Amino acid sequence: MVESGDAEPGHQSPPRHLTAVQAQLYDLLKRGLEPASAYQLMDQLNQACDARVYPQTVYRALTRLQALGLVHRVESSNAYLACCAPAQPHRCIHLLCDRCGNAEELIDTQISGDLEADAEQRQFLVQRQIVELHGVCRHCASQGATT
Ligand SMILES: [Zn+2]
Ligand SMILES: [Zn+2]
Repeated sequence: MVESGDAEPGHQSPPRHLTAVQAQLYDLLKRGLEPASAYQLMDQLNQACDARVYPQTVYRALTRLQALGLVHRVESSNAYLACCAPAQPHRCIHLLCDRCGNAEELIDTQISGDLEADAEQRQFLVQRQIVELHGVCRHCASQGATT
C-alpha cells in the first residue's frame, strides 16, 4: 500500500490496525485540504459505502484516529483534519483561513514548550494545548488584492 503521489521524504505509513471505517475516514481526511466536520465526513462515507454509516460510528472512529495521532481536531471550528506528520510526536499549531477554509499545520516545539514552561511556573498542570490562528491564507491574500 504505497502511495505513488506521496513523495514526502521520511514519510511513514500509518498503523495498519485500522478498521475499515477508520481507514476510509483517514483516507478522506488525507485527501481534503479543508478540515471537515463529522457530519460532512459521514455524508462522504455514506456516498462511498454500501452500508449506512451512523454518527456514533464516525465519532468513535475519529476519536480513535485522534488517539493514534493520525488526525487533529480543529477546536474553534469543530472539524477534523489529517496530521501532516503522524510519525513524529508533536504539538501542532493550525493556521486556518477564514476565506477558503483551508488549514495548514505548523509543527512547533518552541512556542508550545514556552507556553508549558510558563504554565508550569504558575503551577498549572497542562493536559491539553490548543493553538489555532485564524486569518487569510497566501492564496486568498493574493486574490484579495484585486477585490
Ligand atoms: Zn499533526
Ligand atoms: Zn484561503
